Amino acid sequence: MIEVANLTKRYAGHTAVTDVSFTVGRGEIVGLLGPNGAGKSTIIRILSCFMPATSGTARVAGFDVFPQADEVRRRLGYLPENNPLHKEMRVCEYLKFRARLKGLSRGRSRERADVVMRQCALADVSHRIIGQLSKGYQQRVGLADALVHEPELVILDEPTLGLDPNQIRAVRQLIKDLGRTHTVLLSSHILPE
Ligand code: ADP
Repeated sequence: MIEVANLTKRYAGHTAVTDVSFTVGRGEIVGLLGPNGAGKSTIIRILSCFMPATSGTARVAGFDVFPQADEVRRRLGYLPENNPLHKEMRVCEYLKFRARLKGLSRGRSRERADVVMRQCALADVSHRIIGQLSKGYQQRVGLADALVHEPELVILDEPTLGLDPNQIRAVRQLIKDLGRTHTVLLSSHILPE
């Protein structure tokens, strides 16, 4: 599902990732572990088509992330580290909006929003304004967003960062459940994760 070969990323005057190679098979849950600044987010941003590598290759489901970015994006759900959400929107309205942006029809967006709200235990807050929810719920909205277009691969950047122990347990369980049907790549700087 993921093939990374000899990936290097240089920012102006600074090398963030040097000659990284790894593969992730279909149905695996794999963690990128390293201290802050190790280059985890950089690898994830390259894999999710947000920026090109300086050298090396990265493929998702056989598609090259740079020249075939549209094919990759269709197959990939991405939860960035800072979980950007439209906080003034209501949960169900936001998920339908995101599904439409990702190319789903109006009817399918409605259906998928309902499915991911159930999957991420958001049904009780579907009409609440996102900005008024706890951080744990907001993280689940970010996960639901990553899943709404039925991607084969889900990439989560520090998905438990800033959550309390109960919220961390809930998100971990959700990731385990996801692993039954998806390939999951997540990053963390916390060894027990
Ligand atoms: P991690 O996710 O493991 O904390 P990052 O990939 O965010 O690591 O960062 C790796 C290194 O690259 C760090 O030294 C960071 O300061 C640097 N870096 C990250 N993004 C940029 C950028 N846009 N411009 C310049 N340097 C960056």
